[in-house]
Amino acid sequence: MSQAPLPPASVAVLGGGVLGLSTAVQLLRGGADVLLVTEAEVDSGASGRSLSWLNAGGGYGEDYYRLRMSGIDRYRTLLAQHPGIDWLAFDGGLYWDDDPFTVVERHNAQSRQGYDARMLEREDVPGFVPGVDPGVLPHRVLANPGEGWVSLPHLVRHLAEEFTLRGGTLIEHAGLCTVTRGADDDGVRARGLRTAGGEEYAADAVVVACGAGTPAVLAAAGIDLPDASDPAMLVISEPVEHGLRAVLNTPRISLRPHPGGRLAMDSTWYLDRVQRRGDGGWDVDPEVPAELAAEASRVLAGHPEVVPQSWHPGLKPVPGDGEPVLGELDALPGCWAVFTHSGATLGLIAGELVAGEILTGRRHPVLDPFRAERFR
Ligand SMILES: Cc1cc2nc3c(=O)[nH]c(=O)nc-3n(C[C@H](O)[C@H](O)[C@H](O)COP(=O)(O)OP(=O)(O)OC[C@H]3O[C@@H](n4cnc5c(N)ncnc54)[C@H](O)[C@@H]3O)c2cc1C
Repeated sequence: MSQAPLPPASVAVLGGGVLGLSTAVQLLRGGADVLLVTEAEVDSGASGRSLSWLNAGGGYGEDYYRLRMSGIDRYRTLLAQHPGIDWLAFDGGLYWDDDPFTVVERHNAQSRQGYDARMLEREDVPGFVPGVDPGVLPHRVLANPGEGWVSLPHLVRHLAEEFTLRGGTLIEHAGLCTVTRGADDDGVRARGLRTAGGEEYAADAVVVACGAGTPAVLAAAGIDLPDASDPAMLVISEPVEHGLRAVLNTPRISLRPHPGGRLAMDSTWYLDRVQRRGDGGWDVDPEVPAELAAEASRVLAGHPEVVPQSWHPGLKPVPGDGEPVLGELDALPGCWAVFTHSGATLGLIAGELVAGEILTGRRHPVLDPFRAERFR
């Protein structure tokens, strides 16, 4: 006898970044009724200003490494299904540092995990990674042919399209929302959400995917989630002939191609010149985008003039211990948290695994190391 299908649950997803959209689409694919509510527009958070280098080579612990590799795997599938898109590519990564031992150690750690990692001599780089001036490189650099990048605003729009086609309900400009709770025989559980304007929506399950806003949403529900979210800023250039295909991670700039012949770039050296105001806005030293663009020009072959077109300061979501927080909260049954700093790399896989738990009622073992209860 075949098993009866599970009844579709109603799920309220809070947060319209890549993680909220990706979870919401997976829930719809699984037959749930899904409401997605977000503070402003769908990509107004970190997903609208992310370098989004897709990688697993940072010397992570084995569980996190495997999760990131699964994340890359889902992007490869997406690219195979949509080979014509210009907002997702796997043309490798190139890493160098002022300290040669850091590069060697990174290479050794990656090799031990089976990550595709190759030390290149400076003069061999143009043959492997076009678009870089070998004159700026140290003697040896690290190439990771399996890495890639995605433009998250494009991915978010792609997911939002499927979300709408599958009948999901999207509410933008809802302000800062909260999770509502209610008690039954088993105790207190999540019951839905409330918008800043006071509208309430009931749901069988709630997903909190509010990026750097996640700890505040959970704090309002009585749950303390350690938070290390930090200022960051992405700069997008005007269109420029650059010839770069890989993602570069260098001492003073991280850099990747961006749709429309542009470059996307960030770094950390200027962050004391990017200040958050009391009203939530940001003050940026106006010299910073030009200085970052000049660094881009310096590392690129032929030194094209790189002109910053837009810059996007904001918080980068980071859980207190740097590792993802994924899964249902023991302290608030019916509420799932999706909070991570590597939300580009994990964007698809985290949504898939969290939605799977909600749809099946079974905990996924891959998420076990990442549950919020590790902080208790
Ligand atoms: C400069 C920069 C570089 C990065 N580089 C990389 C990288 O190379 N590789 C990588 O994997 N990751 C990278 N990241 C991280 C990655 O971009 C984020 O982890 C990811 O975008 C987070 O997505 P999210 O959906 O969790 O959050 P967000 O995109 O921030 O979306 C959350 C949404 O929730 C909304 N919200 C917040 N609070 C509430 C509330 N109370 N009610 C309603 N809505 C609310 C916000 O307005 C926002 O729209 C980078 C991030 C930045 C900023």
